[in-house]
Amino acid sequence: MRELLKLASPCRLCPRQCGVDRLSGARGFCQAGKELLVSYIGKHHGEEPPLSGSNGSGTVFFGHCTMSCVFCQNWQISQAHRELRPITPEELAAELLRLQNEQAHNINLVSPTQYAPWIIEALTLAKQSGLTIPVVYNTNGYESMEILALLAKHVDIYLPDLKYADNISAARYSQTANYVESNLAAVKFMLKQKGLLQLKNDLAVRGVIVRHLVLPSLIKESKEILTALHSLNPDISISLMSQYTPRHQAQNISALNRRLSADEYTEVVEYAAALGLENVWTQELSSQDILAPDFSAAKPFAMVDK
Ligand code: SF4
Repeated sequence: MRELLKLASPCRLCPRQCGVDRLSGARGFCQAGKELLVSYIGKHHGEEPPLSGSNGSGTVFFGHCTMSCVFCQNWQISQAHRELRPITPEELAAELLRLQNEQAHNINLVSPTQYAPWIIEALTLAKQSGLTIPVVYNTNGYESMEILALLAKHVDIYLPDLKYADNISAARYSQTANYVESNLAAVKFMLKQKGLLQLKNDLAVRGVIVRHLVLPSLIKESKEILTALHSLNPDISISLMSQYTPRHQAQNISALNRRLSADEYTEVVEYAAALGLENVWTQELSSQDILAPDFSAAKPFAMVDK
């Protein structure tokens, strides 16, 4: 653990490479400190079918984020830093085992990057005590090779976003300067490390599922992302998400202050088909309301019983 924590002091846990000494209490762009913070821990049924299955995905939402998206659906915990509670790696390991005991199909680590050393420690402890279900690394896709290499023996499935094909959009909407090259390199590395998605009894056990949230007015970038993914591997599994809802600061940005139209989404779906991408999950546009969580009001995901 002590060796792993050196990656946060100075912090180089993501490509932003802030270089602050988090273990001494300094905070970088993501605002994560020396204490592991989580929001919700519980089973979630809204993930892609091979992750949610019939019993649900054992989800852990971590506090803070290495990006700052104006439209973030989880902004209350990623940017406003509300609804968070500290947890030790030992306590997190116990929660992971509890999720397994409750028949979750997998452990789904949401926005984990800024806490990678603490999470690796928790996974190590949990596996020593019998955790066997697959571990999903559910990330914004802004990852460093150094951390991905360390994760190789702890993670079974990578679930990265590909958010933008243009760094101008990444800077404008997510305050991230070098997203496109970091993101593509990371997904390529994930694919090399874990390979294509593997299923057993219709459930994911290993591999990579890429997520792309189609944004209104950015259809050209969606197509560029699909082209890039096709070049990486035409058999890659892609979740093409239509659930965009203007929340948080997006309500003040005219290009993003509306939902995706059916025509826009259809155009992107048809483009994927024309490229020959076959392993693509699509969403009903009607899923927009259901999948947008409010972390300060109704609890969208059940807490694990104490
Ligand atoms: S994890 Fe946070 S503090 Fe560390 S480099 Fe990334 S944004 Fe900066």
